[in-house]
Amino acid sequence: MPRITAIHEGTIPISSSMSNAYITFKDMDCSIVAVESDVIRDGRPVVGYGFNSNGRYSVGEILRRRIIPRLLQAPAESLLTHDGTNIDPVRAWEAMTQNEKPGGHGERPVAVGVIDMALHDLAAKLDGLPLHRWLAREHALGAPDDDVFVYAAGGYYAPGKGTRELQDEIRRFLDLGYRVVKIKIGADEGGLAGDLRRVEAVLDVLDGAGDRLAVDANGRFDLNTALRYGQALEPYGLFWYEEPGDPLDFALHATLAENYPGALATGENIFSLPDARNLLRYAGMRPDRDTLQIDPVLSYGLVEYRRVLHLLTRHGWSPRTCIPHGGHQFSLHIAAAFHLGGNESYPGEFQPTGGFADTATVTEGRVTLTDTPGIGFEEKAGLYRVLRGLHG
Ligand code: MG
Repeated sequence: MPRITAIHEGTIPISSSMSNAYITFKDMDCSIVAVESDVIRDGRPVVGYGFNSNGRYSVGEILRRRIIPRLLQAPAESLLTHDGTNIDPVRAWEAMTQNEKPGGHGERPVAVGVIDMALHDLAAKLDGLPLHRWLAREHALGAPDDDVFVYAAGGYYAPGKGTRELQDEIRRFLDLGYRVVKIKIGADEGGLAGDLRRVEAVLDVLDGAGDRLAVDANGRFDLNTALRYGQALEPYGLFWYEEPGDPLDFALHATLAENYPGALATGENIFSLPDARNLLRYAGMRPDRDTLQIDPVLSYGLVEYRRVLHLLTRHGWSPRTCIPHGGHQFSLHIAAAFHLGGNESYPGEFQPTGGFADTATVTEGRVTLTDTPGIGFEEKAGLYRVLRGLHG
């Protein structure tokens, strides 16, 4: 019967000079954790690792004061599968979230998500399986996908970055094997006209293929601006128009969806099952063309994300309409196991946490997974070094 013997927690910078329409990333950091078990393999304890995706700050206070103590104080057997052979992330989730009121999710789902990632890494390692295969077996999902669609998210605003630099960046993405790319909109000094110049500059590199370009407003627009951009973007037939307004302004989104016939994407700032339910109920999202970007790590972990997937399918949505935010290895396994539509990717950004195994290559916009047990952090040298540092 495996037991959790210690949970180590730390904070690392993932700062960068870039910005989107809402924030700069100059102070961005990230919580990392190591969940240590009493199972010894090759002379060392088996350890699961987690981190809090990107775009939300570290959550050490909540981890140290509430989430980690609850796990460590829970009776060891209450965290196990019913046959007692492994850690059960669902039962651990119940322990982590006890004595928390509903609603007002704030940073709490991020803290739970960090540990949930580590527990999934640990459970899959204890069974000696890569996470996507472990998930497929545990949840009877059939064979996992062999590879996963990824798109290159970039096109950020940065000091001294003009149209030519933007085009060079997009060319680098294509050289890396991506087919679909994403750029930021909503913060060009030239307003809508300036952003359209950015869009057209990128389309030049993409041979005019609008369906290979997504744009992301990061929740910046009010209703009128969202509609105005929508009208201007419509002729390009873009891959999607992302997070036009405040992520919780469902009426704005529904009005835009009535007026913008192209694909919309949102959800990276939807952090719970009730928020996801409201999104489906009130935001006018269309299952035949729109994409849901909920990031499992930011929203109470995979345990909650599975509830969201269940909800989606009952509302007539296919898991293929889900392409999680975050560009990390955890969501890549989830995408392969649950047959999602793909995963985000930020080539070279948000290091050391962002991206996939060092050996992973993108071919025709798809990436394959490795067979390392667990999530495979051990195959991402820069990240593994940092994670190992948590527990000596
Ligand atoms: Mg986004």
